[in-house]
Amino acid sequence: MEPTMRSELYIDGKWTAAAKGRTFDVVNPATEEVIHRIAAATPEDVDVAVKAARRAFDKDGWPKLSGAQRAKYLRAIADGIRARQSEIARLEVIDNGKPFPEADWDVADAAGCFDFYAGLAEQLDNNPEEPIALADARFTSKAVKEPIGVAGAIIPWNYPLLMAAWKVAPALAAGCTIVLKPAEVTSLTALELAAIADEAGLPPGVLNILTGSGSVAGQAIIDHKHVDKLAFTGSGPVGSKIMAAAARDIKRVSLELGGKSPFVVFDDADIDEAVEWIMFGIFWNQGQVCSATSRILVQEGIYDRLLARLVEETKKIRIGDGLEDGVLLGPLVSKRQHEQVVAAIEAAKTAGATVACGGKRPEGFDKGYYLEPTILTEVPLESDAWREEIFGPVVCIRPFSTEAEAIELANDSRFGLAAAVMSKDDVRAERVASAFRAGIVWINCSQPTFTEAPWGGYKESGIGRELGRWGLENYLETKQITRFATGEKWGWYIK
Ligand code: NAD
Repeated sequence: MEPTMRSELYIDGKWTAAAKGRTFDVVNPATEEVIHRIAAATPEDVDVAVKAARRAFDKDGWPKLSGAQRAKYLRAIADGIRARQSEIARLEVIDNGKPFPEADWDVADAAGCFDFYAGLAEQLDNNPEEPIALADARFTSKAVKEPIGVAGAIIPWNYPLLMAAWKVAPALAAGCTIVLKPAEVTSLTALELAAIADEAGLPPGVLNILTGSGSVAGQAIIDHKHVDKLAFTGSGPVGSKIMAAAARDIKRVSLELGGKSPFVVFDDADIDEAVEWIMFGIFWNQGQVCSATSRILVQEGIYDRLLARLVEETKKIRIGDGLEDGVLLGPLVSKRQHEQVVAAIEAAKTAGATVACGGKRPEGFDKGYYLEPTILTEVPLESDAWREEIFGPVVCIRPFSTEAEAIELANDSRFGLAAAVMSKDDVRAERVASAFRAGIVWINCSQPTFTEAPWGGYKESGIGRELGRWGLENYLETKQITRFATGEKWGWYIK
């Protein structure tokens, strides 16, 4: 059965065409065929959505529900996602290109994210206020958490449903209402999330999902005066625009941006284990992962052997349409992304890098945005290939000699999202983990991500943390309530 594809905006609990009647094409990256057309929101639509979210927050009582009541909706959304898991995963594949098992995993994770934040919403009821010990005994004080208000969320195309879940679940758990815009190249599963929330009986205006371009619909969300908080995942330049818009209106902001994450492999590591995690760290999701470990540093004693095994295994990766059995590398998400990644490989070659394998469109694939998994060696440290995010299945690898050198090379980046280390020496691995200037550190693996643990970057990789209890904090304000608790007179003006 072909999965459902919706084409309208979800605003104030209703499906509606865009006010100006604009639409845009949905392209399957495996075939380059236009498979659908969906509504392109303009500022008029954004305004209606923000007003609905405002009303749901200010008047209809969403933030006044108990955490347990909000948790019921979140769990119903989780169940609704799971009930249609495989159908939604298929939609993700034809929209994004990723292999079906990855999409299936993402959809299960998205459901798990709603369950997790349902639990945290319930905990808000148990722990609503924190007494504050004051030095002045005439006063008592307590701190309470309250939802920020209306959240505007803008998400990327690499994990379409999961990124929506990472924003919507904590926002709703906290008591915020939300207006979310998916990336223009991958909107289908976000619309299914709206349908599932609707079936779960979520009150109108609490969740609004608008498809459309970043420069029009996205910009209207970040500029809207009645949006209190902006949550963004995507590229650094757009993150910077969002922070500027937030600065102008003093909106709360959380940003999850790119990275160029290092993976340090010491010479006591098992070579096959290292190769497996290196591949998982860069070829998973066609390398279109903000935390991808795209700079590999291998201690010189095992460098040649490891590189040979890495090339051997990389060449075996089955490329194809994500719906075919056994495929582990699908097409890149879009023509534009394919062109950008190919251009980055060409620039790396011009800068002096050597292509150890891959680097071009695979043979037999005339259609689809396919690219061979690519390993670059002798990449100059000052080149863009070493320093800038490529966001494709392209990894740079180089040898190092000492631990100090590895740490210096690893941290020599304007980014600080993730880092990984592999060694059988636990003490050394912990030491290196603590030396990394990055928000997410993996020891003896790369990429496993858990809803319970904080996610976000140091340096130019972002601001704030998603997931875990930190993700909920993103949508909460802190209020102090202080009481003058003695019967005494204050006696400043009136003695
Ligand atoms: P992008 O930052 O341009 O887009 C991300 C989201 O922001 C999309 O929903 C887009 O519509 C929206 N957007 C764009 N301009 C906007 C604006 N002016 N105001 C408000 N919203 C706006 O990212 P992209 O074009 O999808 O990809 C470009 C590069 O970004 C990639 O090559 C990669 O390096 C990086 N990227 C990073 C992540 C990540 O998870 N950190 C994800 C996707 C892409």
